[in-house]
Amino acid sequence: MNAIGSATDRLALHGGPAVCPSGPPPWPPPDDEVLDALRAAWTDGTWGVYQGRHTAALEAAVRDLWAVEHVVLCGSGTYAVELAWRALRIGPGDEVLMAAYDFPGNFLSVHAVGALPVLVDVAADNWNLAIEQLDVAYSPAVRALLVSHLHGGLVAMRQVMDWARQRRVAVVEDAAQCPGAVVQGRPVGTWGDIGILSFGGSKLLTAGRGGAVITNRADAAQRARTHQLRGNVVCPLSELQAAVLLPQLRRLKERNRRRRANVARLLEALGGVPGLRPLAARDGDEPGFYKLGFHYEAEAFGLPREQFLAAVGAEGIALGAGFAAAHVGRSPRRYRRGSDLTEAERAHHGCVVLHHPVLLGEPPAVMQVAEAIRKVYRHRASLSSSLQGRLRQATSSASDRMTNG
Ligand SMILES: *Cc1c(COP(=O)(O)O)cnc(C)c1O
Repeated sequence: MNAIGSATDRLALHGGPAVCPSGPPPWPPPDDEVLDALRAAWTDGTWGVYQGRHTAALEAAVRDLWAVEHVVLCGSGTYAVELAWRALRIGPGDEVLMAAYDFPGNFLSVHAVGALPVLVDVAADNWNLAIEQLDVAYSPAVRALLVSHLHGGLVAMRQVMDWARQRRVAVVEDAAQCPGAVVQGRPVGTWGDIGILSFGGSKLLTAGRGGAVITNRADAAQRARTHQLRGNVVCPLSELQAAVLLPQLRRLKERNRRRRANVARLLEALGGVPGLRPLAARDGDEPGFYKLGFHYEAEAFGLPREQFLAAVGAEGIALGAGFAAAHVGRSPRRYRRGSDLTEAERAHHGCVVLHHPVLLGEPPAVMQVAEAIRKVYRHRASLSSSLQGRLRQATSSASDRMTNG
């Protein structure tokens, strides 16, 4: 079937009808249990207290679900990472290994405690930390390793822990993107010395903001708490935030299952689109999908990434660019280059991510994602020629400006 030229198949970017006219589903979604929790917090006054049963219940629920001994709730995932460094006594003179392609706040949290980030490349197949580069990046100043599981990819934690134990390096595992995920038979966030969670406004468990440190190490939990408690409580999670998180936690497993089933449907429907490859997951693991990540190859697809994203976005799909790599555009004085960073640079330019809300939808909504991408693919030639037209225009008006002085 070739519908190019028919009015109904015009790109939304060119004035045609969007594949998903209502746009991406809202987040957070309407949820009666959250509404009940809010009403209850209003009725019993817990919405306004310093400390109460909701934060206590949330701590207990997180302890149960992740099967860890200690939970320290706090104001954000970013702050939880910083608390982890403080709990491990990481500071000036210490080096911290981390992937060069990661959540940008993680790089800054290492600076926040005066330590130096050492950037390691990511694996070619899933753009998560390249374990085989750790040896190259190691130095005697390395005291910790930060491992993030990103965009539906998972890092093989058994191998990471083997390496880290040999080197006596502490491990912080960032599970902000995949609460409830399981890697090599164990919940993500529980492999290392400390795990961190995020309850930010766009995350799978959401309270607008919030985060947690999880650990089996009593000494680390104690230091994280002491740091939080100075003065009164620094950067706490509130009762109201805890109240809305509790019902979401109860439904996490079921929602993760639903997201995984929808991802499988979507990837099947996207099979064969040139230039778009999902970040690989290992068989037997249970990934989490805050974002579903893809390798995007502009040449193979036939469009620059920004153009591709703009066209798919206009069809009503929440597809965006991935993170900026930590070393790109940054002074080399602010980090040590631990390894060659070729793949991290590829990820910087070529990662695209689908935002998760659609993954809780019904199958037809999920199929619209594939439909929008295929539609843009069919029209790639007209898009790239209109892009070239605009580029010619921009160049000639720039030269006009130059001739006009
Ligand atoms: C969102 C995110 C964080 C930080 O969480 P906030 O609660 O937004 O501060 C940390 N790591 C990763 C990988 C994230 O995606």
